[in-house]
Amino acid sequence: MDNKEQLSLTLDQLIRAAREIQYSEDLVPAQWEALRYLARANKYSLTPSMVANFLGTTKGTASQTLRSLESKGYVKRVQSTLDKRVTIVTPTPAGLEKLETDPLGTVLKLVDGEGREEKEILLKSLERLLTLMKTQNNGCHFGYCPQCRNFQKSKSKFGNENVGFCRLANEELKETEISKICAKFTQLPTFSPNSPKR
Ligand code: SF4
Repeated sequence: MDNKEQLSLTLDQLIRAAREIQYSEDLVPAQWEALRYLARANKYSLTPSMVANFLGTTKGTASQTLRSLESKGYVKRVQSTLDKRVTIVTPTPAGLEKLETDPLGTVLKLVDGEGREEKEILLKSLERLLTLMKTQNNGCHFGYCPQCRNFQKSKSKFGNENVGFCRLANEELKETEISKICAKFTQLPTFSPNSPKR
């Protein structure tokens, strides 16, 4: 078996294993994924259509997933204060508590048993694979402020918190917001050491 076949088989097994363990408690994989996303997403990324983009599914399927989560008391829908036509979905305290039993936590515990170097190699490989897949799909890119083209570091403080600035939203960002996933993220250009000098 060559490397390509081996990689394809490993990836296939990994995806199936990750799905299987998420049929857990009263949720199915898509519901766990949506709940996990909503708990990690920033305030610009909480609409049903952004959940659909993140899950790589249709708006109808995402709405069904959100309705199930809502009926179980794990998320709630509210009207955006900025635009009344927009619905915002947020996890409830029960939803956040549910995530403490996230089945993917068992995988993280396994990884935790590995050495520091092995963990770094694993993380870098997975990130690289994800970047390649996103480029291929030309799909929606979710990411974090420090790697975003619209982010500006700021030396000012908000209370005791450092803040940054989002040029897209034209708004200051608290430290807690900077570490959340954003649906409006635009990747900073990455330069390879072999890129021609400008
Ligand atoms: S800087 Fe980028 S990632 Fe951060 S909030 Fe703005 S658009 Fe989103």
